[in-house]
Amino acid sequence: MANKIIYLDNAATTLVNPEVLDSYNKTKTQYFANPSSIHISGQESSRLLSKAREQILSLLNVNDDELIFTSGATEANNLAIKGYALRYQNRGKHLITTVIEHPSVLEAFKQLEDNFGFEVTYLPINKNGAIDINDLKNAIRKDTILVSIMAVNNEIGSINNINEISNLLNDYPLIAFHSDVTQGIGKINLPYEKMDMFSFSGHKIHGLNSSGALIKRKKIELLPLISGGGQENNFRSGTNDVALAVSLAKAMRLSISSLDHNFAKIKQFSEVLLTYLKENPSLYEINSFDNPYIVNFSSLTKKASVVVESLSTRGIMVSSVSACHAKKEPISYVIKALGKSDELAHNTIRVSFSSDNNIEDVNALIFNLKNINKELV
Ligand code: PMP
Repeated sequence: MANKIIYLDNAATTLVNPEVLDSYNKTKTQYFANPSSIHISGQESSRLLSKAREQILSLLNVNDDELIFTSGATEANNLAIKGYALRYQNRGKHLITTVIEHPSVLEAFKQLEDNFGFEVTYLPINKNGAIDINDLKNAIRKDTILVSIMAVNNEIGSINNINEISNLLNDYPLIAFHSDVTQGIGKINLPYEKMDMFSFSGHKIHGLNSSGALIKRKKIELLPLISGGGQENNFRSGTNDVALAVSLAKAMRLSISSLDHNFAKIKQFSEVLLTYLKENPSLYEINSFDNPYIVNFSSLTKKASVVVESLSTRGIMVSSVSACHAKKEPISYVIKALGKSDELAHNTIRVSFSSDNNIEDVNALIFNLKNINKELV
């Protein structure tokens, strides 16, 4: 295997920022007391926890909302969807989501359908990989209580129009709007104040694994999924990891403060790659959209798994289908939802950038893709 790793799988996870790790280590050693303890050390931990909470809300311009620290987006999505649906099921048992959500959303809805008698409408996507607002409008019923639509898709990078969705849902005050913003936060500007609830993870923005949050309007109640000592305002029991919370605030501050700079830098990378792919239409079909962070394409002449493996032995890490469900049937339901064939959906390659990358990484990827094309039969 090559000595230097070129990591182009940043939608799966990112390398932790040393500053984030440093803030984690310092907090973990200096403020290790349980924030629920009443002694002075506990109070200091509690103060830091509150500060991290306030910083994150303020960074996202949602100071009046409530933040629940979770182990990441998977837990936050589950809490938002199941917690809301079960809490408000007396108002109606119809829910709306999309066919291209992350499994942590889709499986939560499936559980509500299979075990709790809810009905779920799964909105299709249009040729741009986003929902059509008329489809959402037509899906709304008298008994609809929750709409969950992701901001940015993790496989094809398509972006939903959150403003448009929120404006429509304003006419339905009893329907809550949740969005999984995991692939958008710290990368593209999103109108967080327009969402009733949103979920994300720290490790997609150079933070630590198992850090994340659900942010929601204060008035929204949820049935807690984890019962216990009543931490996180009773919504998520268990002793808080103050250092993890502080590290999340740090990762968010760093990514949000350099959002425009990083976006412009990464746009150059994706343009170089897209130019190469477009110059070779007999070899590749592009599946992704106007989001530089994720370039997804199908290999037309070779098995994607072979290309990904071959790149990997050359030190270049990209993914096929999605790391989140890569062990299941290797057919992308997201590419299928775009109306593409099984063949194309089976052969997807996802390249996802971060601010850690540089143009040499992209050139190396293209150089190796060319070589693989020449070498493999
Ligand atoms: N939603 C989206 C869109 C994601 O990309 C991911 C991570 N692949 C998740 C949710 C789940 O995040 P985590 O595994 O950190 O809980």
